[in-house]
Amino acid sequence: MRAELMELCPKCDCKDFYAEKAFPKKIGIAILLVAIIASFWTYGLSLIGAAVLDGLISLFVPARLVCYRCRVVFADVPVPKEVKGFDHHIAELYNYR
Ligand SMILES: [Zn+2]
Repeated sequence: MRAELMELCPKCDCKDFYAEKAFPKKIGIAILLVAIIASFWTYGLSLIGAAVLDGLISLFVPARLVCYRCRVVFADVPVPKEVKGFDHHIAELYNYR
């Protein structure tokens, strides 16, 4: 979970980061809601379309680093391979410090 190029968060000295897609969550939720509502008329095909769209978005939208402790987003920093997605167990450790 250690960032290779950025060892410590410059704001809070935290060593743990997670990677997330630089895509607005509200748009993702809106796509899913439209797909769910449309699924009544499309017999579920719109859900498959939403899944395909989600896959395409994650291919083309770059990842960004987020600090677990202070939640600062580092959009211009390359994301090392070791940094995984958001982990609730690691996040819990920082919630109770
Ligand atoms: Zn931080």
